Amino acid sequence: MQVKEIKMVDLKTQYERLKIEIDAGIADVINNTQFIKGPQVKKFEENLSAYLGGSQVISCANGTDSLQIAMMALGYQPGDEVITASFTYVATAEVIALLKLKPVLVEVNPDTFTIDPAAIEAAITPKTKAIVPVHLFGQCADMEAIMKIAAKHNLHVIEDNAQAIGADYFFSDGTKAKSGTIGTVGSTSFFPSKNLGCYGDGGALNTSDNVLAKKIRMIANHGQSIQYVHDEIGVNSRLDSIQASVLDVKLKYLDDFAARRISVADNYDNAFKDLKNVQTPVRAKNSTHVFHQYTLLLKDGNRDEVRKKLADKGIPSMIYYPIPLHQQKAYRDERYKDGAFPITEELCKSVLSLPIHTEFEEEELKFITDTFKEAIQ
Ligand SMILES: *Cc1c(COP(=O)(O)O)cnc(C)c1O
Repeated sequence: MQVKEIKMVDLKTQYERLKIEIDAGIADVINNTQFIKGPQVKKFEENLSAYLGGSQVISCANGTDSLQIAMMALGYQPGDEVITASFTYVATAEVIALLKLKPVLVEVNPDTFTIDPAAIEAAITPKTKAIVPVHLFGQCADMEAIMKIAAKHNLHVIEDNAQAIGADYFFSDGTKAKSGTIGTVGSTSFFPSKNLGCYGDGGALNTSDNVLAKKIRMIANHGQSIQYVHDEIGVNSRLDSIQASVLDVKLKYLDDFAARRISVADNYDNAFKDLKNVQTPVRAKNSTHVFHQYTLLLKDGNRDEVRKKLADKGIPSMIYYPIPLHQQKAYRDERYKDGAFPITEELCKSVLSLPIHTEFEEEELKFITDTFKEAIQ
């Protein structure tokens, strides 16, 4: 019998742990009333930049905007092609389509679920402008291979880092870099349930290209260079000061949050290692995994049944993602018939994400693992 309600993400207990600092930060914003462009925003951008090893940070209103602003700043024209993964959250493809660019979907690796570099290379045409790898569920795509392909074909790389902030990528020469700092530009989300989440919407871009950073800042602020002077068509996309104050507190704990998530994942891995019909998350050899999600593959086609058995015992689970992009009504395209991405289609039928967050207690985890093992029989 567990007492506490089990949640996919427990933001309440985390808040209670950080309450004094978070409340003080929010009170500061209210007291000085600079709700937009307050000093908290600049401070958070500087602190995140330092965390990312010096890459310049430009905050914005949400993760989807960060992808859109990146593509606007890089100056793509209607019809330009942007390559991204067929297995991802809709936002990645959405902004490509919104800007009248052409989303070119490619297959993912069946083990790590991240974009397959060989499939990228095969999809390049003279119209290709960028590759958007998604660091899905908390580990980096194969960035070394992707950067090589990009260099060879003179393409930008926009890292969708919404799920992997804080992860480290290791190059074959022994050097390492933070996720999101390897490509032309990194893009992330501070949606509440993300690993670095605020108490509303938020997002950011980062780049070490100073000219691009300046352009991104301008586009995020109505294309304005000086107040009321507009050099470009931009958007209104701002991180507000209250969100920045929350993020600045949480940033200090980001590595601790990751360690807690990894320990939950280790616990699950260990409990499930002998289950024959279950594939626990495969960790890429060149990236740490910060476990935005703990996503299993259920190989017996019994996912609905397992989910129901878990739910009956009060354990939530989620399917990220149930329908591949190319089979969504809004993204149907004659280029991509059913069966066009067999790995993605299979993943959508067999993935299952279990609760993972920073606030688990041992008994809760034991209850989840015991119940899952029973449910899978
Ligand atoms: C969450 C997410 C986004 C979008 O972020 P929002 O802040 O919700 O707009 C984009 N890409 C991926 C992979 C995400 O998980």
